[in-house]
Amino acid sequence: MQLTNRKVVVSNKEQSFAERLYLPAIIKGMIITASHLFKKSPTIMYPEQKRPIAPVFRGQHVLKLDENGAERCTSCGMCAIACPAEAITMTSGERKKGEEHLYREEKYAATYEIDMLRCIFCGLCEEACPKEAIFLTDRLVDTEFERKDFIYGKDKLVEKIDKRIDVSIRQTPEVLAFKKIPGLKHNELFDKKLNKGNKH
Ligand code: SF4
Ligand code: SF4
Repeated sequence: MQLTNRKVVVSNKEQSFAERLYLPAIIKGMIITASHLFKKSPTIMYPEQKRPIAPVFRGQHVLKLDENGAERCTSCGMCAIACPAEAITMTSGERKKGEEHLYREEKYAATYEIDMLRCIFCGLCEEACPKEAIFLTDRLVDTEFERKDFIYGKDKLVEKIDKRIDVSIRQTPEVLAFKKIPGLKHNELFDKKLNKGNKH
């Protein structure tokens, strides 16, 4: 019974003297190797050189600060619920008097972690966030040697006050226009809300 169409014809032809010395195979291999000397190298010297990426590339997340430098995240957990990879964990804290410059809302994320090894960079956390606090950026996650180092905490996720990250770069003009419509929550359906918003 024939199980497959794949077959190899076995030859019992006696090898020549040169073949027994492996000369033809060695010469053939050297020709292939030499031919590569004249081809353009496909290797990119990362990180000095970078390959072009799509404008909507989704890379490392950022937790944004508001215009006054306070953390936008209110630890509502919507991003964690939306995350299909269960990569996000957080604990909440209550803002104390005098901390208004640190946290925009009364409740804030005391800890916030993303496991970059679990993350599939789908962007659903960004879609789910009602506070426009989390965005994916065009940055690549660093290479690490230890699994634990891929768990990014607030120290790596929250943007620095003197080093703001422009997240509008990788957003389409339609999304940017949508976010400017007054009174809209950006996690609701784009088309439906855009049409409704235009009626105002
Ligand atoms: S990009 Fe997707 S997988 Fe990664 S943390 Fe956000 S929701 Fe989870
Ligand atoms: S990042 Fe957004 S969705 Fe996630 S906990 Fe903070 S406010 Fe909620």
